[in-house]
Amino acid sequence: MKLHCEVEVINRVHSSLNIRSNAKYLRSTLALGKEPKNVQEYFILHFSSVNKNGTKYKVKCMKQVFVKCLNEGKVTLRFEEPPHDLCIKSEVIQLKSFMRLLKSCITGDTKDLKLSNLSSIGITSKDIAPTKLTINNRSEFPVKGFPRTLKFLYINGLKLCNFRRDILLLNHLTVLDLSNNEIEKIPPEFGRLPNISELYLSNNSLGLNKNSDWQWLLGLKISKKLKLLDLRENKIINLPKDIWKLQNLVTLKIDKNSLYKLPTTLGRITTLRYLSVSENNLRTLPCSLIRCGLEHLDISSNNFKSEADAPKIADYTPWDIYINSLVHIAAKTVLKHKFFYAPNIIPKTLVELLDNSNMCVCGQAVLNDKYYVIKPFELIGFSISRHIVSNFVNKGSSVSVECFFCSPKCFVK
Ligand SMILES: [Zn+2]
Repeated sequence: MKLHCEVEVINRVHSSLNIRSNAKYLRSTLALGKEPKNVQEYFILHFSSVNKNGTKYKVKCMKQVFVKCLNEGKVTLRFEEPPHDLCIKSEVIQLKSFMRLLKSCITGDTKDLKLSNLSSIGITSKDIAPTKLTINNRSEFPVKGFPRTLKFLYINGLKLCNFRRDILLLNHLTVLDLSNNEIEKIPPEFGRLPNISELYLSNNSLGLNKNSDWQWLLGLKISKKLKLLDLRENKIINLPKDIWKLQNLVTLKIDKNSLYKLPTTLGRITTLRYLSVSENNLRTLPCSLIRCGLEHLDISSNNFKSEADAPKIADYTPWDIYINSLVHIAAKTVLKHKFFYAPNIIPKTLVELLDNSNMCVCGQAVLNDKYYVIKPFELIGFSISRHIVSNFVNKGSSVSVECFFCSPKCFVK
């Protein structure tokens, strides 16, 4: 391993003889390696602009390690022979991984070296490469930014108004909890984080800004990894149609928002198993949900439309549904076979057409959203979810479902 750093070499013999040292910090490279002949022996090579050939320090000749200022990116390595102190300054994360490696060279090898040098000062692998961080107070934010090694980050109840952009650097992050803040917007770049599988955003102000930007949902990386999305207790009126891009989502919680409708595209998330939408203003459910194979659906405390409000089926003739343009026929084929499409392959208008498609009761795509009916379905016997939570007065109550039709055949059904 190589470490790019600045090093000041102090010769202790010179200092003890009171010889004035002209040492100063020089841009350097430290390399940790093994002796070719003796695999048990490790060494550190120090190169700098004035020492191009490098000086070799045997790890077993190390006498002491000073790591008090490791969190500020400084350590000192003291060697018995040559009697040098290497004062090292480097970027914290890199320095920590260098020290971790050095420690394993020591622990895995030279038993006579006093391990207390390292361990007594309390370096543990956890300090060197932290993977979890909980911040309960603004003063707890790390001065030098979040460690890049983080996998779990919890920033809870700090009244943060803005999404912290340094989170966007955390490529190893899998769980992000920003609950109980006042965040209005997630930056589009968030969608590029490659490992996020759980995102907790409950009790924030998402949706407060009417032009809420949901661009991050379009990130190819996030769409493949995100499994849990918690948006409870926000100000969301419209869940974006693009939500279906989260093609591995299993759990979606949107309780306590102001939704009056769910996007019909939800049915395109075939992995969705747990959906809770209680305490919204939902008037209908999209029929596409039948396609998800939900295990759990919570629709309690909503405002479902009564049968009387629904448009009459007789308002349409099956012939209307027969009329299909060539574009629609082609688009249906793309959707049926789940062909990959993106704005760099086909015109943007076609991408929008495909993205906004609805779903027929039979599961086929419907490009024309003109023909739909709102039909009451009895909750019992309606195979929308294995387990339904609702607080309707009697269990036999019906729920209004918005149905789209791909053909007169489905329409008549
Ligand atoms: Zn159909």
